[in-house]
Amino acid sequence: MKTFVPGFPRMGLHRELKFAMESFWKGTASASELLQLAKELRLRHWNIQKEAGLSTVATGDFSFYDHVLDTAVMFGLIPERFSDLSFDSPETRLTSYYKLARGDQQKGIPAMEMTKWFNTNYHYIVPEICEKTQPKLSCLDIINQTQEALDAGYTPRPVLVGPITLLALSKSVSEEPYDIWNQLWPLVALYEKVLAELGTLCEWIQIDEPILCSDIPEAGKQNFQAVYQRLIAAAGNGKLLLTTYFDALDENRDLALSSGCAGIHLDLVRGASALDAILDAIPDSMVLSAGVVEGRNIWKNDFQKSLDTLNKIKGKLGEDRMMVAASCSLLHSPVDLSEETALDETLKSWMSFAVQKCSEVQILADLLSGKPREAEFEANQKAIHSRRESTRVHNPEVSARMAGISEDAFHRAHAYPIRKQAQADLNLPLFPTTTIGSFPQTDAIRKTRMAFRKKNISEQEYTEFMQNEIRMVVSRQEELGLDVLVHGEPERNDMVEYFGQQLSGFCFTQNGWVQSYGSRCVKPPVIFGDVSRPRPMTVEWSRFAQSLTNKPMKGMLTGPITILCWSFVRDDMERSEVAKQIALAMRDEVSDLEKAGIRIIQIDEAALSEGMPVKTRDHEAYLKWAVEAFRLTMACVQDSTQIHTHMCYSEFNKIITAIAAMDADVISIESSRSRMELLDCFVQYEYPNEIGPGVYDIHSPRIPSQEEMVGLLRIAASVIPKERLWVNPDCGLKTRHWEEVIPSLTNMVAAAKQIREEA
Ligand code: GLN
Ligand code: ZN
Repeated sequence: MKTFVPGFPRMGLHRELKFAMESFWKGTASASELLQLAKELRLRHWNIQKEAGLSTVATGDFSFYDHVLDTAVMFGLIPERFSDLSFDSPETRLTSYYKLARGDQQKGIPAMEMTKWFNTNYHYIVPEICEKTQPKLSCLDIINQTQEALDAGYTPRPVLVGPITLLALSKSVSEEPYDIWNQLWPLVALYEKVLAELGTLCEWIQIDEPILCSDIPEAGKQNFQAVYQRLIAAAGNGKLLLTTYFDALDENRDLALSSGCAGIHLDLVRGASALDAILDAIPDSMVLSAGVVEGRNIWKNDFQKSLDTLNKIKGKLGEDRMMVAASCSLLHSPVDLSEETALDETLKSWMSFAVQKCSEVQILADLLSGKPREAEFEANQKAIHSRRESTRVHNPEVSARMAGISEDAFHRAHAYPIRKQAQADLNLPLFPTTTIGSFPQTDAIRKTRMAFRKKNISEQEYTEFMQNEIRMVVSRQEELGLDVLVHGEPERNDMVEYFGQQLSGFCFTQNGWVQSYGSRCVKPPVIFGDVSRPRPMTVEWSRFAQSLTNKPMKGMLTGPITILCWSFVRDDMERSEVAKQIALAMRDEVSDLEKAGIRIIQIDEAALSEGMPVKTRDHEAYLKWAVEAFRLTMACVQDSTQIHTHMCYSEFNKIITAIAAMDADVISIESSRSRMELLDCFVQYEYPNEIGPGVYDIHSPRIPSQEEMVGLLRIAASVIPKERLWVNPDCGLKTRHWEEVIPSLTNMVAAAKQIREEA
């Protein structure tokens, strides 16, 4: 029986690729050094797949930045502003490639845009298409790497982003309205050439069309059949494995099953419910690849459960017509669990990273075909049972509290207009000024946190350092004349990790990195059990900060959905339930902050829209429980306590109803770069509460002038009643430097004064 994983993490066990690309960007490593490392990594990763016993190894899944960008480059989808770039020699290719991804600083050419890959935390580069785009082949890395694998003695299975998904994820950059689907057939002609060549090199070619599990544009649907007819013919002896993941096929089932492809890959973790219908409808000529091992988390597969599924497929189709696989590319899971030397042994015995997942796939296939792997099966089931029954996972107090949540717990005592009156004694001027929470995180701050973690300094030394930092940040804000102050978050390395470390039910890996975008990797906390808050987490810092000033000090928390979205979440409970548990824990913190005299509490939900399911029809249900979790977190406060939330992205159209339903008194959003355009949907919706549209782009070191910010505020004030407008930067200032922050905020406060006078 054929086995495989749809892709392997590319960064390397010790994030070697990250460091190598960053050295290349700095100029401290040459192109050939980077190319050499890449080659070593590919060989290492193929070897892992082969050692596990998998039938084929993925090729073309490696990337120097992002595989969607690679696909765009392969087909010559180079934006016009980069038309000077050369992709001829291996050296210029790398330099040019990184200019696309990161922009050309010298010439001031902005990078291509980046956005989230479906509902993962991986970001891809958005291909740009206009009427002038002329697709042409260049940089055939996928063919070279497939040849490279063959030469090294592996059986390659090239992985290619399919044309329908590629176009569905591209954006039109024409001045005039332009239908990017006009480029479909020119692109297909190029796909044919690539497939023709790959077809001579290998038996199976994996063509990824995850858009089939999401909302496929009408043009993609209309042309699907015809496109695949041509691709299949072009691939000759190469068999196409139409690969779908992240959800069930559902309404696109017939489209996929009648594509004529030799095989179909299904994500049977996130799309398990659809299996029966597929088994009934799958044509005799088609092989089914069963993605039973989750590629997106760190949990051990439950072999018994997977075998039940696999046996069902085997019963219907027979072994010859099936493959066993991971649900999706392992790009989204960390590399190797055996590196986790500090992880608690019990918790570790419940987990599985990419290397282990490769083995799981193979063991399952062996078990299915009756090969002797009983020892592995038993060890697996022992771990599964230990986790299922563990008292470390299940906390009766949390279950009891969950069961007893009353309807009231989700609603503030009164509606916003009444609360507004109760908050009048905050004495805020029109257009109150504030910041989003963090101030520049200097080396000294990072070193002190590190020294404390390593126990090189005492708790008292640590606290004194942080208090001095807070003192400095508070006095600078007073000098600047800001109206609502923050403590600056010097004690936090990361807005989720900081809370995870203090909540029960979380654990942390040492090396569980996954790629977020380019060279950036994140190490998500693991939520393994019921979540609760043993003791206050931020109260002392906030109390201290408030004691230094008569101005209101904002308490600063991370919301339940953001904590959920940026963690590896347990898979034995609905995400909505986990969110509720986190909400209850954070609610205790909100209460304690209020008791400590903190009048304004901001609960950041930076990731609200990231958690959105891949199908639009599921959005509403998600937003309902996400909003409920937010409200559960904060609805316990008095009318006189002002609740803020903050979101730093720009797509509010789809979620504006949910944003309003969150019922925060004030929301701050990112908007400076879009020139307040994204206020439009708040205006159309008649957003009823207060709003702080960012006027200072914190992603850039540039210092915005007073006039510029006044300009933005005038736009805002022309559409939103002035009594409901705040003045703030787009997001936290932690990545900025004080030299930029002071003049920028000086200008921001001056801009607020000016607009107040105009009002
Ligand atoms: N309060 C956080 C900060 O200022 C918010 C960060 C975010 O939204 N990403 O850093
Ligand atoms: Zn933000």
